[in-house]
Amino acid sequence: MASRICWHCERFSHMTQIGPVFSDILKGKAADSFVWFAPFTCDACGYATLGMIDSSLLGRRINSGQAQSVFQVEADFEDEEELDDEDEQIITWIPREPVWKEYEDVPEDIAAVASEAYSCCSIKAYRSAVLMARTALEATAKNKGITSGSLNEKIEELAEQNIITDQLAQEANEIRLLGNDMAHGDPDIPVSKEDASDILGFLDTVLDYVYQQPIAIQKRKALRKKRKENKNDCRSIAPSSTAATN
Ligand SMILES: [Zn+2]
Repeated sequence: MASRICWHCERFSHMTQIGPVFSDILKGKAADSFVWFAPFTCDACGYATLGMIDSSLLGRRINSGQAQSVFQVEADFEDEEELDDEDEQIITWIPREPVWKEYEDVPEDIAAVASEAYSCCSIKAYRSAVLMARTALEATAKNKGITSGSLNEKIEELAEQNIITDQLAQEANEIRLLGNDMAHGDPDIPVSKEDASDILGFLDTVLDYVYQQPIAIQKRKALRKKRKENKNDCRSIAPSSTAATN
């Protein structure tokens, strides 16, 4: 059994292989292939899904036995935490279940849009990812009370009010510029995975600086204060002699 989040019921579920591996090559034409598939069903809801191994990521063709072994490796993973990026890259589950991202201390509506940018990226919808990142950026300005002017002017105002640094303003501008191409009717401009990843990285940096870091500092201060108070409490109730220690 293999473990994955099901595209249908969205549960972290065991997938049971229900048929033999097959490849993209014509039967009997070659023994090895780059791409292998195997049919699975979700144990939770019974819906079908397809496992795909793209062995070009391994840099070599593999035969059906090796492909089955790779699928079998999945059986060893029972816990999502045990899966690392390398495993994720070798086996693709079709249809894909979008990967969302959690933002702990970002306002809910902005976090939802930023997370949607990540889910778009995870299913290779790179243009949509960039558009969502641009929307999250504009929503951040609005959340900070900056509602008039172009996005360019809003970014300048964010920097002017020291809500973001000049460096972050430059990163925000990269989101704006590529996002503008998508938003203003230039869909012929190619957006690669690297482009989308860069843009999401810039967005995360902005959200981290504007929302997450200030709250992290507040939490750290509160923790330090609490520790100090506990220390003082311990001192006030500590016995005057050493007899109590052991
Ligand atoms: Zn399911």
